[in-house]
Amino acid sequence: MSWLRTATSKALKASARSYSQPILLRAMATTTQQAQGRLNTKDEFDVVIIGGGMVGAAVCCGLATNKLTNSLRVAIIDGKPLTEGSHTLHKTSAIPDPRVSALTPSTVNFLEEVDAWKYILYSRHAPFDSMQVWDYTGLSYTRYNAADVGKHVLGYVVENNVILSALYTRIQDLGFASLICPATVKAVKGCAYSPSKLAGEENEEETRNGFAQVELDDGQRLHARLVVGADGASSKVREMAGLKSFKREYKQEALVCTLETSRSHSTAWQRFLPTGPIAILPMGATFSNIVWSTSPLQAIELKTMGEEDFVAKVNEALVDSFGPFPSSRIPQLLAGPLGSFLGVTASSCKEPFEAPPYITKCLSKRASFPLSLAHAYNYVSPRVVLVGDAAHTVHPLAGQGVNLGFGDATSLISILSAGIEVGADIGEVSLLERYEKKQKLANLPMMAVLDGFQKAFSMDFGPINAARAAAFGAAQLFSPLKRQIISYAMGESGILDSKIFQV
Ligand SMILES: Cc1cc2nc3c(=O)[nH]c(=O)nc-3n(C[C@H](O)[C@H](O)[C@H](O)COP(=O)(O)OP(=O)(O)OC[C@H]3O[C@@H](n4cnc5c(N)ncnc54)[C@H](O)[C@@H]3O)c2cc1C
Repeated sequence: MSWLRTATSKALKASARSYSQPILLRAMATTTQQAQGRLNTKDEFDVVIIGGGMVGAAVCCGLATNKLTNSLRVAIIDGKPLTEGSHTLHKTSAIPDPRVSALTPSTVNFLEEVDAWKYILYSRHAPFDSMQVWDYTGLSYTRYNAADVGKHVLGYVVENNVILSALYTRIQDLGFASLICPATVKAVKGCAYSPSKLAGEENEEETRNGFAQVELDDGQRLHARLVVGADGASSKVREMAGLKSFKREYKQEALVCTLETSRSHSTAWQRFLPTGPIAILPMGATFSNIVWSTSPLQAIELKTMGEEDFVAKVNEALVDSFGPFPSSRIPQLLAGPLGSFLGVTASSCKEPFEAPPYITKCLSKRASFPLSLAHAYNYVSPRVVLVGDAAHTVHPLAGQGVNLGFGDATSLISILSAGIEVGADIGEVSLLERYEKKQKLANLPMMAVLDGFQKAFSMDFGPINAARAAAFGAAQLFSPLKRQIISYAMGESGILDSKIFQV
């Protein structure tokens, strides 16, 4: 895992840098306007968010609701027309969209804090209270229950367009931000470390008032104290700011669609196959969503075959192919006094393997997305900060990608508001480096865990299969380990819990 070693050592160097270069404080400012100085013309903004996907919208919503940032002048730009700010999606009649996200309780907390969760509650949202993971060898399995950690749910599966709709409805409720869309950003200038900048020779057109300049495809120019790059995995902002990144293709595509199942359920099921994991997520009633990560060739076959053949293939992959289901003998033995003696206390430790529901219909179009692991070595440069997929992309096997992005949004808002409180310039790199340090320490360990899973499950070799089964068994039976894993996956524990990492 050399990429992780390099990235972590860079993260630690960056943190040392941010300690050795304290933020230059002006006299204590009383208002945001005083702290940031006046904006002179209509094309000047405190913050320009490039990319109005879930993470860009989350940053905008966070800025709108934090009392120290809500008077900032903000623009949000997206190349696509934005989703209508409506919370009238039908709960039961319409078929769910195949693009969904499993949201962790931490993300739900953020959405509650910015008061956008209420719109998701009006719309379709599917809680899940258990997870079951197993592999094709049939040697072992792991079940997790919300009850193991004293909770009612492990998370919620929500359509991406419902999440977007909730965030934009909230932004519109507050009359916050100029929404500029559809408009594509062609260039961002005045934001990279460059020889001329280091020598202090600044191009006046690029850096009016020392601001970054954002150029749109229609020729319009905006000037910003801070540009937030929320423009996804192929980020233009990252490129224009000269922020280098690491990328490894998984040579897998994730096929998604909406399915009908033989019964309703509230479990997230995942079976690891030699070609990649297949996951079925509850979507309410008898709707489910599938995320099937497989070879690009099989993804094409699965997308183009007839509906009946596809449904048969899904059932085969989940149930019928390879060996029998894992045995439930050990958990049954532990249900009695032996379990209590060994300290096996989490309720799911004693639960037998449960067969997933049969798939009866495919209800939507099938789409697929190439998968890769990517990470920007640095998330910030003068007047620029990266969030979400622009900074990092992960395999969807644990449904963490956008949750990491919501973590970025939460952290960015708290660091910007802390900066405003002490009169710092929000585009000042020494302030932004505090965000980078905090988020690398949150994101890199999760990325390493997910990449490790992806690798461990893509090998079909006797001793490795046995080691994997042992690891599954340990995760199933050892209650403290189980609770740690659940809390980590729910975004509720990690190294960020330690006080020394708090801003
Ligand atoms: C199959 C699959 C399943 C997934 N499931 C989950 C899950 O269950 N849970 C989870 O947490 N994550 C999941 N993810 C990951 C999640 O979808 C991403 O992490 C998330 O969409 C990233 O959001 P973002 O806002 O950072 O970027 P994007 O969603 O990529 O948004 C970027 C936005 O920027 C705009 N843009 C780009 N370039 C420009 C430009 N030059 N000018 C103007 N606008 C621009 C685009 O139009 C877009 O709206 C999944 C991913 C896949 C592929």
